[in-house]
Amino acid sequence: MEWLRKRGIKLEQIAELVMFLQQKYFPELTIEYCMYNIEQVLRKREVQNAILTGIQLDILAEEGKLIPALQEMVENDEGLYGVDEVLALSIVNVYGSIGFTNFGYVDKMKYGVLEQLNDKSDGHIHTFLDDIVGAIAAAASSRIAHRKQAEREAEMAQLKAKADSEA
Ligand code: MG
Repeated sequence: MEWLRKRGIKLEQIAELVMFLQQKYFPELTIEYCMYNIEQVLRKREVQNAILTGIQLDILAEEGKLIPALQEMVENDEGLYGVDEVLALSIVNVYGSIGFTNFGYVDKMKYGVLEQLNDKSDGHIHTFLDDIVGAIAAAASSRIAHRKQAEREAEMAQLKAKADSEA
């Protein structure tokens, strides 16, 4: 979470992607419930490893520290490089195959924060980060889809009770 934040990503922005992917199937979905599911995805060790590896490579590319053949491809986010997508699949993988469809879709649509990461105007290299963010959203979406209706309602009621008690 710390490294996502350092690279300019707010969990709310990922939650908006989840809403975009799932709202048509679950009209009762709330942004809080999307955030909760993202947090569950981010607890997984293999997800954390993929995030850190991708961000590290983006940073090394910004600093010009990759070996020359790789530097050019990562810096220019070359379409045929493809390892950024493959790394992100290790995130998508954790909640089964629905994740793959969602990941492909969100990557194609370049919705919300993904559009922002793609226009390279902030001077940063986000070759890996855009796929990582899309993959976290896809994994959280799959988690929501896999929860049965009753379980989703119980989790949402729990979140609401927690928010009410804190207010
Ligand atoms: Mg990419």
